[in-house]
Formats: sequence, structure tokens, C-alpha cells
Amino acid sequence: MDTKDINLSAELKKYFGFSKFKGQQEQIIKELLGGKDIFVLMPTGGGKSLCYQLPALISEGTAIVVSPLIALMKNQVDAVNGLSSDEGVAHVLNSSLNKSQTKQVMDDITAGKTKLLYVAPESLIKEEYLEFLKAVKISFVAIDEAHCISEWGHDFRPEYRNLKGIIDKIADVPVIALTATATPKVQDDIQKTLGMNNALVFKESFNRANLFYEIRPKINVDKEIVKFINQHKGKSGIVYCLSRRKVEEFAQLLQAGLDQKLRVANQDKFLMEEADVIVATIAFGMGIDKPDVRFVIHYDIPKSLESYYQETGRAGRDGGEGHCLAFYDPKDIEKLEKFLAQKPVSEREIGLQLLNEVVGYAETSMSRRQYLLYYFGEKFDPIKGEGALMCD
Ligand code: ADP
Ligand code: MG
Repeated sequence: MDTKDINLSAELKKYFGFSKFKGQQEQIIKELLGGKDIFVLMPTGGGKSLCYQLPALISEGTAIVVSPLIALMKNQVDAVNGLSSDEGVAHVLNSSLNKSQTKQVMDDITAGKTKLLYVAPESLIKEEYLEFLKAVKISFVAIDEAHCISEWGHDFRPEYRNLKGIIDKIADVPVIALTATATPKVQDDIQKTLGMNNALVFKESFNRANLFYEIRPKINVDKEIVKFINQHKGKSGIVYCLSRRKVEEFAQLLQAGLDQKLRVANQDKFLMEEADVIVATIAFGMGIDKPDVRFVIHYDIPKSLESYYQETGRAGRDGGEGHCLAFYDPKDIEKLEKFLAQKPVSEREIGLQLLNEVVGYAETSMSRRQYLLYYFGEKFDPIKGEGALMCD
């Protein structure tokens, strides 16, 4: 596409109502429209979706968006459809649709109405979809949550592995891969697996200067957490536990230990702002973007620093303070190691290395922020860097 004549700011305003691009969005969109392969590493909340939604809306043909979770896709499709007065601008294509729904989706694509088509990788493999997509005009392919490709990421999905071959079959179009997991290993893995070694890489800093990182020894943990929550009355927070059983036990204990007004409740209530604190396993929170979470507590230390970063990253999305408190007991690490011992060799080895990094972080005498950012391949000045004082 000839991008010189497009006024991207006007399109941004028209579709999204925003008056300015965030970070490197504009540059990314320009390069994508110009036909380049793009790799975007941007922290959660950085505004990755817009990097493919806006170009899709203004391009001829349909952009295929690969995304790992059906629930996430539905939210995104609803959001995109809300941006335009035209019908059928965004669709999902997967096995949850019945025959006539599938036909509607295909008709809309053929008619040129559909600008974004969300699919899970396992749907793309289906022969009937593949044949159909080969025959229509595709603008580009976006791979969201691209870390799912890598075993070094925190959410490996085997179905993501074969994407490259499938995309090549469908069309020769630009690919944009996006992720919030930026360890050099994952980055390398994604680029290799997708054959994107020549892609333009856009990496934003992962430093979250408004988050306070703290690790405490896991002693009297129940009491400590109740005390912490009572000291942050009326503020929203998440308590993460590793097992479902622990979640239930601790939620009960918390109900009893908290003042009347504080409630621990389910995800919907939390989002509806009827509840201040939620106790959850890490399955909770993907794609959830409640801006005013003021603290994230890890009852158990996470299995990797990627997970830790993702989960703590749910605090302070609005730019306000976010206290990230994790409880560390070397015995928990031993338990996780035992658990890994039952896994196949490659998974075990990766798991153990990731755990080692967690131990290193928990026991470091370095600035925690420096350690964390170094892990993500970023240099940080522990004295003058932004947010240098925001850790224990
Ligand atoms: P990510 O996928 O990187 O975690 P999202 O795409 O979900 O982030 O965007 C996070 C938030 O930022 C959303 O609420 C989105 O509407 C908002 N956002 C994105 N781009 C802009 C912009 N240019 N101006 C203002 N808000 C933006
Ligand atoms: Mg996203």
C-alpha cells in the first residue's frame, strides 16, 4: 500500500477516538502497511492490539489475527465491532460456530466487509478453512501472544509451532508478531520459528517505574497478607496462589480475617468493582485490563520470572502506585522441583532453569528492578534509573 497519502492520526481519531499514538504504534503501523514483517515486544497494556487493528481497518482485504484463547478473541471482536458502524467488520472463525454462522462469516469476508478475522491456530489447520482463506484477499497476518510459540515462554502452545507453514500456504503477506514476553531466548525462538529473522523489531522498555517490588520470607504468611490488605482498605488487589485448593482455603480465611466491608469474590464481581480483593490461581487475569489494581500478592513464588512479571504487571495499569509483594520459601522451590521431576526431560530442564532465575531474583543482593530488567535483556541503572527506589 502507498502509505504516504494516509493520514494515520486522522484514522486513529476516526476509529478509536484517540488523539495521539502511544509509544511506537505509528511507526509500527507505517512499516506494516509498507509491507514489512514486524516483531513487537511491548509490555502488557502498551497498546499492541491497535498496531494490527488500525492497519487492518484501513487495508483492503481481511487481516488474520491468531490468538490463543477463544474468550479473549470474543472480547476483541466485540470491541472492534464497536469501533465501526458497518456490520461484520470483525469475526471469529472456529468450531463454536454452527453451519449458518460459518457461512455468514465467509460471506462477509468474500464481500470485503470483514477487516479482522480472529482464529485459534488449531482452527487454521482445518482443510475447509484453509482452502477458503487461500481464495480470498488477505491483507496481513497478526500473531498475538506470540510467546506461545516458545517453550521458554510462560504459556507454550504446541499448536503455535506450525503456524509458519500454515501461513505460507494461505498467502504471501506481511506478518506482525506481538508479545509482552521479552526474554532474549523467547524472542530468538519466536523469530526462528516464524522465519522472521529479517523482521523489523520494535522493543519498548519493560521497566514499570510505578510498581514497587518486594519479596518477604514466607513466615506467618496468612497473617501477613491479612494485615497488608487491612492496611490497604478500599483498594483493589489480587492474591495469587499456585493451587486451586490453596485459593479456596485462603479465600475463606481471608473472609474471616477481614473487616466487614472487604469482600473476596469472583472474577465478575472484581471487574464490576463490587469486590476489592480477589484470590485466584494464575489462570485468572489473562487479557483482563482493570486499571486500578493497587497490589498483587504472590502467596506462592511463581514458576518463572516471566510469570512473575506478567502477574505483577496487572498492578498499576493506570500509572498509579502498584505494590507487588511475593512470599518466598526455598521449600516451595523444592516442591516445584519435585513436580518437574515427573515431566519429560526437555520440559524438566527448561523448568529447572526458569526456577533458578526465580531463586536468583528472590535472593539477589542487586536491585530487584535491575535483576528483573536484566533478565529481559535490558540495562538498568540501579541508582539513577526511573523507579530505582521502588523496590525493597
Ligand atoms: P496490550 O495488548 O499491549 O496489553 P492493549 O492493546 O490491550 O495492550 O491496550 C491497552 C490499553 O491501551 C487499551 O485500553 C487501549 O484502548 C489503550 N490504548 C491503545 N492505544 C492507545 C492510544 N494511542 N491512546 C490511548 N489509549 C490507547
Ligand atoms: Mg494484548
